[in-house]
Amino acid sequence: MKLQEIKNIDLAGKKVFIRCDFNVPMDEYSNITDDRRIRSALNTIRYCIDNDCSIILASHLGRPKEPFEDKYSLKPVAKRLHTLLKQEIIMAKNVVQDDTLELAKNLQAGDILLLENLRYNKGETKNDEEFAEKLASMADVYINDAFGVSHRAHASVEGITKHFDANSKAAGFLLAKEIQFFHHIVHNPKRPFVSIVGGSKVSGKLEALHNLVPKVDKILIGGGMAFTFLKALGHEVGNSLVEDDLIPEALKIMEEAKKLGVKFYLPVDVVAAEAFDKEAFAKPTTTQEIPKNWMGLDIGPATALLFAQALEDAHTILWNGPMGVYEMDKFAKGSAKISHAVASSYATTVVGGGDTADLVRVTGDEDEMTFISTGGGASLELIEGKVLPGVKALVIEE
Ligand code: AMP
Repeated sequence: MKLQEIKNIDLAGKKVFIRCDFNVPMDEYSNITDDRRIRSALNTIRYCIDNDCSIILASHLGRPKEPFEDKYSLKPVAKRLHTLLKQEIIMAKNVVQDDTLELAKNLQAGDILLLENLRYNKGETKNDEEFAEKLASMADVYINDAFGVSHRAHASVEGITKHFDANSKAAGFLLAKEIQFFHHIVHNPKRPFVSIVGGSKVSGKLEALHNLVPKVDKILIGGGMAFTFLKALGHEVGNSLVEDDLIPEALKIMEEAKKLGVKFYLPVDVVAAEAFDKEAFAKPTTTQEIPKNWMGLDIGPATALLFAQALEDAHTILWNGPMGVYEMDKFAKGSAKISHAVASSYATTVVGGGDTADLVRVTGDEDEMTFISTGGGASLELIEGKVLPGVKALVIEE
């Protein structure tokens, strides 16, 4: 699969619309608490400035219910862009109203206009044609640099691409890097290829699990989802998170792994607690002896050692989903130990998903990972083997 890339587009002096992912976390005072997503967009923006483009930036932020709900305004993003780029950012008052279209029309080389939150307009998530056309009317060239939303057929991601020919639309540097990485990992990994899958539920990652099993050499399961597998094998799992309806699927996945010779690892012990509470009484216990009415909220110390050992000969590691309820200190140790084991391995290490990315930052292992993906849902869909709607329109060779 070959994507049209920004470096192959004639940009000189053009008006460029860049779909970014500025969906950054903010505190209650609208202070940005982590600006990584804004910083990751700078390569593409600077490249356009260097090419004397005038630039229109667009993003969503959160899920506003009402148009112009203040806490979802992109104004704080404009401020941060100003700080990082050291130049004026023209902040639009809305997304596609006449005054904004006029601002876009009058942009000069090097000017940057930031549209208001795309989701202030209902047409965005509905992939509304008229809205997409208005967005497209602002520019000569369309660049998608928003990996995190490329699995959504939204107007600024999918509908808009219909208004640009193959030489006027492309993937930005960030999107191209993410897609290439996952494509390579899934289709051409250096072996042994080990996947660590965690997080809350099997249901959220079912397709990805089905798709991973034939590709990997080993799969390590942690987090809440492990209990559906353990129950399927006949363990008493107390009040741990279990999706009973998925027990047949869990058995199918394990049978498939066995048939293909894929080593399938489940926790051998867990940290069990009396309640889902950071103050709850908790203790490590083997998975054979989880007390009735208790729940497993982290992998145990023996499992962390076992998993670390299973990672030792890996040449490629793909990790998606925490090993426990890492938001509570008491249940974060298993995830931290796996984070350190992944970081200290000699493998190519790819971390996907917001929680896991957050986790490796907290554990201080961020710089040791080969690649941290910005998009959770999008990276899962790539692992599932899907072509993302926002990427499809930018493919120039299958
Ligand atoms: P996901 O969005 O599916 O990747 O799940 C991430 C969430 O899974 C995190 O918020 C964790 O707190 C949660 N999680 C991990 N392990 C467990 C567990 N054993 N029981 C309940 N929730 C868990």
